[in-house]
Amino acid sequence: MKTARLPIAVQQAVMRRLREALAQANLALNRSYPEPRLVYSQRGTSAGTAWPESYEIRLNPVLLMENVEAFIVEVVPHELAHLLVWQHFGRKAPHGKEWKWMMESVFGVPARRTHRFALQSVRRNTYPYRCRCQEHQLTVRRHNRVVRGEATYRCVRCGETLMAQPPASPHGPE
Ligand SMILES: [Zn+2]
Ligand SMILES: [Zn+2]
Repeated sequence: MKTARLPIAVQQAVMRRLREALAQANLALNRSYPEPRLVYSQRGTSAGTAWPESYEIRLNPVLLMENVEAFIVEVVPHELAHLLVWQHFGRKAPHGKEWKWMMESVFGVPARRTHRFALQSVRRNTYPYRCRCQEHQLTVRRHNRVVRGEATYRCVRCGETLMAQPPASPHGPE
C-alpha cells in the first residue's frame, strides 16, 4: 500500500486540516460541498495536484514527509481551493481571482502559486547513502523508492544495504 510509510499521525493531521478548510469554505460559500478523495500518489516535483473531474487531491508522500508543516499550512488548502473553485465557479484560471480569494479571505493563507519550499529538496539530483566501506550517491528516483519502501540497494563491494545519510553540512565533513 502506498500510504504504508506515512505515519498515521501525519495522515490524521492532513485530514484534520482538509476538513477544517472545507468547513471554512462551506461556511463562506453557504454550501455543503463533500469531502474530496485524498490519495498519496503524487510523484516528481509537485507537492500536490487537484483533479476536479474525480474530485480528488493527490499529495506527494516524499515531499509531505520532508515538509509536514508546510503541507498542513499551505498545500492542503491550496489544492482544496482548486477543487472548490471548480465546483462553485466552474472552469476558471487555475490561480485566478476566485482561487486567490479563497486562499486569502477564506483560508487566511498567502496565495502563492507554487510551493517553493518543497521544490529544493527534489531538485537535488542525488542523495548521499553509506555502507560499511564508502559513500554512495543515489538518484532521486532510487532514493524515493527507498523512502517508499519499494527497494533497498546494496554496495557491490561489501554487500551491505545502503543507508541514507543526512545531507552534508555546509561546513563539510568533520
Ligand atoms: Zn495551484
Ligand atoms: Zn560497501
